[in-house]
Amino acid sequence: MTAEEDQEYRTARAKPFRIIGNIYFVGATLHNSSYLITTPQGHILLDTGHEYSVQGVRENIESLGFQLRDVEIMLSSHAHHDHIGGHPLMKELTGASILVTEADADVMSTGGKSDFRERAPWKPAKADRIIGDGERIQLGGVTLVAHLTPGHTKGCTTWTTVVNEGGQTYDIVFVGGMGINSGVPLVGNSKYPNMVEDFARSFAKLKSLPCDIFLAAHGYWFNIWEKVKRLEQGGRINPFIDPQGYRDYIEEKELTYLEQLKLERGGS
Ligand SMILES: [Zn+2]
Ligand SMILES: [Zn+2]
Repeated sequence: MTAEEDQEYRTARAKPFRIIGNIYFVGATLHNSSYLITTPQGHILLDTGHEYSVQGVRENIESLGFQLRDVEIMLSSHAHHDHIGGHPLMKELTGASILVTEADADVMSTGGKSDFRERAPWKPAKADRIIGDGERIQLGGVTLVAHLTPGHTKGCTTWTTVVNEGGQTYDIVFVGGMGINSGVPLVGNSKYPNMVEDFARSFAKLKSLPCDIFLAAHGYWFNIWEKVKRLEQGGRINPFIDPQGYRDYIEEKELTYLEQLKLERGGS
């Protein structure tokens, strides 16, 4: 990717597109993912982006021919401003229920003030329903499963679902995020004493999930730029089928985590 392409990836308004089956990318930019999972009984929206992203997400949903009022459920990857900052406004526009894990609900309800990572706060939102690890969210014949993958936030969630298309079944994984927060120590963190163990368990859990279609909270984690280009070229193979990319992502993030751990534990 050139510097210009990177700039475009991060800031240009993204065009929405169908990924596979009933799953659409509706993020305001390719950098900040939002996914619309449509069903005959209403839709599920995974991540809203920043508050200022909501207008773009709205236009993307509507330009695909879907109605905002049909969004019944709002989910999230993790409680940081660039993924749930748009939740209060999107809830106003859709009337959807916000479903979130307990730990991320807490951070969301304080607009990030109760997060172990200290950053500028954002507009808080209230959870309508708390979801637990392994919980299945069902709507209109579609099932999404919540897999708690804490570490990046305490309630970080990886979502999975299954799509049938062209006589094939595909396992879809929406990774919540496995990056260590810059400037936040892993070891001996009084605001998050279990961070090291949580990350380790989350890596193990992600490795155990079957994955054909690899998706995530940020586009560059799954090389969205190249995949969209391939999609536009119209090949016969769906570019989002990328089990190797999924394994590579986990391996790369785990390596970074282990190196940081070694650095922090160095000498002891
Ligand atoms: Zn984050
Ligand atoms: Zn983020």
